[in-house]
Amino acid sequence: MSTPTNVRSDVTQEEAAELLSDLVSFDSQNPPGREAAVAKFVAGRLDEWGIDAQLVPRPYEDRPQVVAEVGDGDPEAGTLVLNGHLDVVPPGDAEQWTHDPFGGTIEGDRVYGRGASDMKGGVAAGMLALRAAHEAGVDGRVILTCAIGEETAEPGTKTLLEEIDGDWGIVLEPTELMVDTVGKGLAWYEIEVRGTSSHASQPHLGANVLDALFAFSEHLQSYRERISEREHPLVGTSLCSPTMLEAGTKENVIPDSATLTLDRRFLPDEDVADIDDEIDALCDPLRADGFDVSVERTRTYEAAEIDVDDEIAEVVREHSADVAGVDTAPHGKVASTDQRNFVNDANIPAIIWGPGTSPQSHTVDEWARTDLLVDGVEILCRTIDDLCTN
Ligand SMILES: [Zn+2]
Repeated sequence: MSTPTNVRSDVTQEEAAELLSDLVSFDSQNPPGREAAVAKFVAGRLDEWGIDAQLVPRPYEDRPQVVAEVGDGDPEAGTLVLNGHLDVVPPGDAEQWTHDPFGGTIEGDRVYGRGASDMKGGVAAGMLALRAAHEAGVDGRVILTCAIGEETAEPGTKTLLEEIDGDWGIVLEPTELMVDTVGKGLAWYEIEVRGTSSHASQPHLGANVLDALFAFSEHLQSYRERISEREHPLVGTSLCSPTMLEAGTKENVIPDSATLTLDRRFLPDEDVADIDDEIDALCDPLRADGFDVSVERTRTYEAAEIDVDDEIAEVVREHSADVAGVDTAPHGKVASTDQRNFVNDANIPAIIWGPGTSPQSHTVDEWARTDLLVDGVEILCRTIDDLCTN
């Protein structure tokens, strides 16, 4: 074993921008889940840097994930797990973009394209920090995990963590280098309402599901008011928003079926099973009016939280302030991330922290700042230095 030197970044803004541009130029949109090409690129680039990177064909054979590890593995020193996701949300209407969503255009200190902020910038930072750790040497271990399927709540990170023993995690989602110790949960509910159709000239012969849902909106409103009293100091209140409605077959037919989708954002101390019961009970007035109602939770991202002053949060906060002047106030993320897989499933304390700009996520003409990317790599290097060397 060689004695490690200090882990420090020597990456230039130009090199960081080019790496991010390369990553963005792979169309890895999900759905449908096209991460394979960019996964191979990441593993290939790490190999070029002398780092042994594995393509992991789990949970799906055709959508490999990437795991790479550096360090001496001394159990006295710690193991830091960096986590990125390789999938991006679809770009939507490409006509609205003034830059090619998969062009990776570099302009000034920005890189444009789908995923630039969410979160190929985070992946680039993880790769460059891993390279620095590899070159300097560390007593412990630094592991980079690049997952599939984050945008659709698939078991990407969860599967990778089943085989990884780590002491701390950093989920490299866009936070502009601010440390988030808590992420809100998300559940989607599909409420299917069935009534009776009739000719619209004789509506009294039918049971109109749209009439029923318009009346239901009052109950929904009072539920929303009730849950808005549940509040977390860092991520705000519980939320429930109707986001989709499908109903009706023809202009002159009383509709006999409708599907209403609710997006429910919840706090770490709320239990999903309890929320299931709440949503089900919310539908009781519809049932009382004779409608058939079924409720299905179609997607779930658990909320997750660690102590504001957990070691990983303190260390990264301190270096983010020193390197980039970032605010050290406690902070949380109102969206949900794979932090939940670290904290809830693998029992590894983890923060959400990364160089991307959060409001850029999922937007038209998404961009990321390369100065933040360079600072992010330096912050990761100092963190590795603190945590993974004796
Ligand atoms: Zn993301």
